[in-house]
Amino acid sequence: MTATLGAERGERDQPVTGCLFVIAAPSGAGKTTLIRALVASDPTLQVAVSHTTRSPRTGECEGVHYYFVDASTFAAMRERGEFLESATVFGHCYGTSKQAVSEAMRHGNDVILEIDWQGAAQVRASSLGAVSIFLLPPCRETLAERLRGRGQDTAEEIAKRAAQALDDISHHAEFDHLVVNDTFNAALTALRDVVTATRRGEKPALRDHSALLRKLLS
Ligand code: ADP
Ligand code: 5GP
Repeated sequence: MTATLGAERGERDQPVTGCLFVIAAPSGAGKTTLIRALVASDPTLQVAVSHTTRSPRTGECEGVHYYFVDASTFAAMRERGEFLESATVFGHCYGTSKQAVSEAMRHGNDVILEIDWQGAAQVRASSLGAVSIFLLPPCRETLAERLRGRGQDTAEEIAKRAAQALDDISHHAEFDHLVVNDTFNAALTALRDVVTATRRGEKPALRDHSALLRKLLS
């Protein structure tokens, strides 16, 4: 990859080397858990830590899961052009700073952005050549169960996230690859296949998910 980060506003260009992966999914589909397992088994793959204005969940750590900032800090960063992409999701601001991508890229790592479809569209519109993956749940009921089972959000927050899922899934066609997270290990293998193929400059065979998509979107 030969694009650069930070070319705006007179910043020094930072070349983007390596592969950039964007992974999006409706909330509760399992992206954080899958990405954690993917990265744990591949030391040359790093997740860029996002900034958010939402409050930390139990167990979430500053600089590991997110950089937790207030709304004025986030707005000032956006104004200074420090984000590669940013979006409002579930009433909170989320964004990937260019610095987070540079840090994740250090030592020649490939980088994963765990972001929503709006952010994915902004990255796609850049010249970074990211490969994007959208995770699908096996059915709507399972998605709702996973959201509840995570046990981290209020009932109101869970309802908000479940209601948004259909809209999120309706953006599936904007992504390069679809991966169904039914059985965890099968989904992890499918994600690894995309990473491996991309590194080799190949494209993994596309699977036909049209029946599942019809069911999810009906
Ligand atoms: P997301 O990051 O997409 O919001 P999480 O990774 O937090 O979702 O996963 C939501 C919940 O679903 C978690 O409790 C996680 O352990 C569980 N989960 C993820 N993948 C699977 C799977 N394949 N089978 C069963 N439970 C899963
Ligand atoms: P959560 O609050 O569950 O951690 O994340 C809520 C949503 O925000 C998820 O869809 C997640 O992918 C998305 N998100 C997290 N970080 C970013 C980011 O940096 N940019 C964008 N656009 N979305 C993000």
